[in-house]
Amino acid sequence: SERKLQHSEQLSVLGELAAGIAHEIRNPLTSLKGFLQLSAGSTKNKDTYNEIMLLEINRINAIVGELLLLSKPKEMDFKPCKVIHLIDTVVTIANTQAVLYNIEIIMEYEKDLEAASIHCEENKLKQVFINLLKNGIEAMKKEGTIYIQVKKKNHYLSIVFQDEGQGMSEAQLQQIGKRFYTTKEDGTGLGLMICYNIIAKHNGQINVTSEVGKGTAFEVLLPY
Ligand code: ADP
Ligand code: MG
Repeated sequence: SERKLQHSEQLSVLGELAAGIAHEIRNPLTSLKGFLQLSAGSTKNKDTYNEIMLLEINRINAIVGELLLLSKPKEMDFKPCKVIHLIDTVVTIANTQAVLYNIEIIMEYEKDLEAASIHCEENKLKQVFINLLKNGIEAMKKEGTIYIQVKKKNHYLSIVFQDEGQGMSEAQLQQIGKRFYTTKEDGTGLGLMICYNIIAKHNGQINVTSEVGKGTAFEVLLPY
């Protein structure tokens, strides 16, 4: 199922993306302008206005941050890489956020996978795992555990991220991964889209199962 995009197709995809991004950034900018004007004409609601303005600025910042990651060199740099070690590194990073909510991140794997190596673009894969862990933490926001389970599955390595968060409905599951789909006040709706793109480039797959009020599991399958 590999297909190279025609040049004209590539351009229209880019144009569409640019239009979407411009729109997503203009919304918070318009709101910033409005609240700045309100704030200038009022003394009593300044704190509320400032809070909203800060949220809008954070949102623009998050969108730009994710776009910068996207715009990094296009050619992927595939190399053999030790997966367990890579996940360990990512967990260390995610833990700085997880501890704030008393969330524990536990990784389990079959002993013989300790040195398992896969052909991948290390930084891109890290980005995927960080995004999934970040989403898990954001879905929980209270103490609990995120389990990461690594195992062999036919010719794939299966890496499951299971959280104890709010979960998703069927309708929500249909929407995730679509550009700018977010249910968060300060979300970008770019995280999963980026994850799906990166895993597709690795000839892998992402499966999701979720139950409202119980939690969500994202399974990443990578050729092994
Ligand atoms: P963002 O995190 O900026 O909202 P994402 O693309 O990462 O964008 O996620 C899109 C949406 O998918 C989230 O807003 C949320 O509604 C849903 N989602 C993603 N991961 C989870 C999860 N682990 N648990 C519950 N909902 C999730
Ligand atoms: Mg996200």
